[in-house]
Amino acid sequence: MSRRRRVYEGKAKVLYEGPEPGTLIQHFKDDATANNNQKHATIEGKGVLNNRISEFIFTKLNDIGVPTHFIRSINMREQLIREVEIIPCEVVVRNVAAGSLTKRLGIDEGTPLPRSIIEFYYKNDELGDPMVSEEHITAFGWATPQEIDDMMALALRINDFMAGLFLGIGIRLVDFKVEFGRLYEGDMVRVVLADEISPDSCRLWDMRTNDKLDKDRFRHDMGGLIEAYQEVARRLGILFENEPKRRGPTLVK
Ligand code: UDP
Repeated sequence: MSRRRRVYEGKAKVLYEGPEPGTLIQHFKDDATANNNQKHATIEGKGVLNNRISEFIFTKLNDIGVPTHFIRSINMREQLIREVEIIPCEVVVRNVAAGSLTKRLGIDEGTPLPRSIIEFYYKNDELGDPMVSEEHITAFGWATPQEIDDMMALALRINDFMAGLFLGIGIRLVDFKVEFGRLYEGDMVRVVLADEISPDSCRLWDMRTNDKLDKDRFRHDMGGLIEAYQEVARRLGILFENEPKRRGPTLVK
């Protein structure tokens, strides 16, 4: 087994020391959790799919000038990333009402929102990641006003990019969660996208059937999670088993 030094172990990922200072290896596990860790399962193959999907999206975001921690793929489950200081705020972007928003505000699931809405949650498992405002974030020093502006601007660019990417393959991007980190480069520090973007952290609905192609299948005991994640990877053109020749999304007409 690996003798690499484990730097951090989370619910679905492990971080190991990287080959050079300032780098880490992000390893995707098969574990799934929901309801603030009350529900737990191992779903074989989930880590491989999430690694592939996340690496595809992060590469595309790097290509359009959204700074990310992603450096390169290492293997089916691992990627080389830059070490960043994670800002303890989860940033959620919503396009369609679902999940906690429907409960909190009594809006029917599936209602299109008048515009994309950004929310912040304080990353704290003991407290169950409570929703917070920009006032809380600046008052408690979790991020500066400038960092909040940077996170919001990047989150909206990520949303526009991903909504278009998924629209092209017949999938509605309902909402998603991202995390940002501070990248220290000499005297400079800048906000970059960190963590992952995968069907674990997004709500993705088939545009024709409204089928859920995301972690809600696990949250609501619907089954078929791996098949759904495979379908997302297949439409993105990154599931190699049956189509070894081509890479890249297939346009759904
Ligand atoms: N999300 C996530 N991690 C979390 C909480 C939410 O990745 O700890 C994602 C979730 O998959 C969804 C979006 O953020 O795409 C909004 O989630 P919501 O606030 O509706 O919470 P939930 O209903 O999942 O508890």
